[in-house]
Amino acid sequence: MASSVNDFDLYRPSEEHDMLRDAVRSLAEAKIAPYAAEVDEEARFPQEALDALVANDLHAVHVPESYGGSGADALATVIVIEEVARVCASSSLIPAVNKLGSLPVILSGSEELKKKYLAPLAKGDAMFSYCLSEPDAGSDAAGMKTKAVRDGDFYVLNGVKRWITNAGVSEYYTVMAVTDPEKRSKGISAFVVEKSDPGVSFGAPEKKLGIKGSPTREVYLDNVRIPADRIIGAEGTGFATAMKTLDHTRITIAAQALGIAQGALDYAKGYVQERKQFGKPIGDFQGVQFMLADMAMKLEAARQLTYAAAARSERVALGGGKEDLTFFGAAAKCYASDAAMEITTDAVQLLGGYGYTRDYPLERMMRDAKITQIYEGTNQVQRIVMARNLP
Ligand SMILES: Cc1cc2nc3c(=O)[nH]c(=O)nc-3n(C[C@H](O)[C@H](O)[C@H](O)COP(=O)(O)OP(=O)(O)OC[C@H]3O[C@@H](n4cnc5c(N)ncnc54)[C@H](O)[C@@H]3O)c2cc1C
Repeated sequence: MASSVNDFDLYRPSEEHDMLRDAVRSLAEAKIAPYAAEVDEEARFPQEALDALVANDLHAVHVPESYGGSGADALATVIVIEEVARVCASSSLIPAVNKLGSLPVILSGSEELKKKYLAPLAKGDAMFSYCLSEPDAGSDAAGMKTKAVRDGDFYVLNGVKRWITNAGVSEYYTVMAVTDPEKRSKGISAFVVEKSDPGVSFGAPEKKLGIKGSPTREVYLDNVRIPADRIIGAEGTGFATAMKTLDHTRITIAAQALGIAQGALDYAKGYVQERKQFGKPIGDFQGVQFMLADMAMKLEAARQLTYAAAARSERVALGGGKEDLTFFGAAAKCYASDAAMEITTDAVQLLGGYGYTRDYPLERMMRDAKITQIYEGTNQVQRIVMARNLP
């Protein structure tokens, strides 16, 4: 374990990380990329991607070995998400949200909860979603209204969660709910809810601008009665667990942004060699070369910040101090997503009119990049988080 944040070895990818990247890239290009346009066009779940990821044990690499997982470190998890997002952002939500949904259990759950819920996740038998947002509680998540009332050996949950990624596909849901309305954020608790629990149902899939293959639905909790031992940690600690989770998982959104941007840059780089205007490839023009140089520069800066944040996430996972993780998680997510939006927009520009059509993948990448500036806290919220946690 690194003893200080200056330990560069923690975020320099090792030979194993490089091998992992090569393996995921080959798999993603062979088994996920061929369906990316269709998944977007039809707004359907990328089942082929889920099958390929599960078959290769890449759907939830973060689960510790002690619960049947592969125990990948934070950087390895970033690399998996990055490489899947490079070809299909919707599919990258599978490993990313499996981490988001299950991390509260890993960080704060009882041993029994970990054994019960992490093993099926690791095996690929179940996916995990994360239910924090509500129709009237987005950036101000602590203003949630969903309630959990203790009734003997049970809790009874009522409320509506909104924008829940992979809702309906996931078997398990980490749900944040108010147990003591007087205490605001300190009166919120976290629970594991199962799709099969009576009273759980889902809204119609949202019709979105991008990541169309990733189902986003409301989750309705109508008198959902669950055993009291499904609480994650002590009563009143749910909001703190939800925020601690985001410190780690915002780095996975940064990874997604890096992947989308890399996919767009790679495509544009190839295109400018082929496309001829004024009698030569457009890539020979300095105006085009400077655009590509800026895109590559921003992408590399975003990657270095994301890997530095992943190193801090790993340090905490190994029992080290939290120190600057909150700042780095927010900074990586904010910077990488802004970079991805700029890079994908410029990539569309480099294809001219062709970039604006669905015959080419770049307009999809540009639409997909936009969500990375919004979810797991908008980039305005990231700036609030950074300002409160300046290093
Ligand atoms: C496709 C998709 C998938 C999602 N997946 C999940 C999921 O799996 N689980 C989950 O719990 N949530 C999920 N979300 C919810 C997401 O995290 C929220 O949409 C996001 O946090 C913003 O909340 P909001 O939409 O209510 O916007 P609002 O909070 O209403 O914000 C509207 C605007 O006001 C700005 N704003 C708000 N407060 C401030 C402030 N104090 N200072 C400056 N600006 C401010 C925001 O930045 C934004 O620009 C998802 C959302 C989408 C669209």
